[in-house]
Amino acid sequence: MTVQEDLQKLIRLQEVDSRLQEIREKREEVEQAILHVREPLTRLEAERDEQIEEVAKLREEAQGLERTTQEFAEKVQKSKEKLPQIKTQEEYFALQKEIEVIERRKGEDEEKLLRNMELFEESQRKKDELVAQCKEEEESFLKNREEMLADSNLFDAEEAELNTRREEIIQTIDPRYLVHYNKFAQHKVGPAVVQIIDGNCQGCHMTLPPQLFNDVRKGASIITCSFCNRILYAENQACRNES
Ligand SMILES: [Zn+2]
Repeated sequence: MTVQEDLQKLIRLQEVDSRLQEIREKREEVEQAILHVREPLTRLEAERDEQIEEVAKLREEAQGLERTTQEFAEKVQKSKEKLPQIKTQEEYFALQKEIEVIERRKGEDEEKLLRNMELFEESQRKKDELVAQCKEEEESFLKNREEMLADSNLFDAEEAELNTRREEIIQTIDPRYLVHYNKFAQHKVGPAVVQIIDGNCQGCHMTLPPQLFNDVRKGASIITCSFCNRILYAENQACRNES
């Protein structure tokens, strides 16, 4: 294989890679746009989940209050049963006092329970509303998403074709040049193969020594820029030997 052919292949590979990169960026843009479109739904879902937690918390609280009022009622009952057996007035008043205290606490818990039930109903209502809103918003989002992905899917065929071409090119390129090319590609530092325009390297924009420029034009071997190490080609080499 001639140096010119290797050079052509490297240039083609670079074109393919650059288009693949463009497609990747377009897909990323679509992904970002989808995330953006999803924002209202994400917010609603967070509100809904908060309300679900609130409902669960209130239910748990209610269960606790039901238990304590029940316990207080039992205590009052037991204490009242003891009353007839009491001998002294002192003991009688003490027990009466104890019963009053328990009944007051029971009353407090019953009030809390009533308030809890109001809050529970309110919270349940809000939760149901949010569940319905989420469902509606999700349907609209999924429809939007499908349309957006349809745009992105237009690239599928082209991308597959480019990947096939890439494989074909790689298999016929001199591995030495491929290693050099990949170094640039992996570090994402711009093109690995650059043209010389007006005696300047288009990778680093330095003016090349005339001898180097002449060697590139002769095309006897692959020449790299003495400043940035990119593979160089002359103005007229890009489309030579096009097959
Ligand atoms: Zn350079």
